[in-house]
Amino acid sequence: MDLSYILNHLGEERENYFNAVSPPIIQTSNFYFKDVSSLRKAFLNEKEIPIYTRGNNPTVEILRKKIAALAGAEDALVFSSGVAAISAAVISNVNAGDHVVCVKKPYGWTHRLFDKFLPRFGVTATMVDGTAIENFERAIQSNTKIIFLESPNTFTFELQDIEAVVKLAKAKGIITIIDNSYSTSLNQRCIEMGIDIEVHSATKYYGGHSDVVAGYLISNKKMTDKIFESEFLNLGGIISPNDAWLLIRSLRTLPLRLKQTTETTERLVQWLEQHPQIEKVIYPFSESFPQYELAKKQMKHGGSLFTILLNAKNVEQVETFCNSLQRFLMAVSWGGHESLIMPACSFPVQQHYKEQVYPFNLIRFYIGLEDTGCLMDDLKQAFKKIE
Ligand SMILES: *Cc1c(COP(=O)(O)O)cnc(C)c1O
Repeated sequence: MDLSYILNHLGEERENYFNAVSPPIIQTSNFYFKDVSSLRKAFLNEKEIPIYTRGNNPTVEILRKKIAALAGAEDALVFSSGVAAISAAVISNVNAGDHVVCVKKPYGWTHRLFDKFLPRFGVTATMVDGTAIENFERAIQSNTKIIFLESPNTFTFELQDIEAVVKLAKAKGIITIIDNSYSTSLNQRCIEMGIDIEVHSATKYYGGHSDVVAGYLISNKKMTDKIFESEFLNLGGIISPNDAWLLIRSLRTLPLRLKQTTETTERLVQWLEQHPQIEKVIYPFSESFPQYELAKKQMKHGGSLFTILLNAKNVEQVETFCNSLQRFLMAVSWGGHESLIMPACSFPVQQHYKEQVYPFNLIRFYIGLEDTGCLMDDLKQAFKKIE
């Protein structure tokens, strides 16, 4: 289906709401029925017919259709956060006694789900270095039900060979789930590569304006039906109609925003790779990246996150550099209009990952919609402070 059609028109039945171009925010918890037979019919198909907004809401429904079509999938569910989507996807596919193989260094709360939360219910997990397929083969047990991927991760960008993992999982009847937030469904076609469930933090690129927290779960209809009937309705992590409307608004410009931020990122990465005050730049589409070939094979763009190792003598110099930046906000998250930095030296030591300590001079950058020149000038004046 044509991308511009999906973003601008799909699911929008304007004649149903006064021919308004922008869809209405159906801000209601409840929907009424004229007769018993219509109510009975609705109860049999709560996923498609609005009865109560914890199940279906017409504004959210428009968003669901667009998100599924964007990924080339049958269906999608929208959640109140990326973590709610991740948790529902995982919990719906395990029972007590089951095992999960998860890639190392996933998003912090994904790690927590496998490390702390699910063990309470008798579900265990093995975290593997996902850069080699043999590590997945070795970790699989007779009770493994899920392989959970995040390719790339959003800090040091290690990738997994998605098609190789899918092949392995399919041969053993294991469900594959991928956190595809980094690339979005536009730039990494996970469903087409055979992944069973794609999950996203819609808070990042999809929202794009740093004003909504939300999550997407994308799969075939059989899987979304199963999750809807259980985790979706039972855990109740739904999005508000107002936030769904903001996400529909943001989708209109998603390809433009991705193109712009990626172009700026590539220019800055090239410049920083030559810079004497930089020890190293980590970026999937950089030729020095260890998995460059794989990145080029399965991703359409390199994205707008990259990480540097600053040529600094000590933590004080790293702090001076970070504190001097005026055009980069120091903040968590990413994917919005504004450029950001996240220095590893700010982390409380080993908060989430026991085995993982980042170098003191590591700084993660997110590039927003500002001009390249303006960001470069800002970096130059900060470099000067630590010369
Ligand atoms: C932010 C993020 C999440 C969590 O999403 P929320 O919307 O904050 O719940 C999950 N995965 C990745 C890769 C993220 O960057």
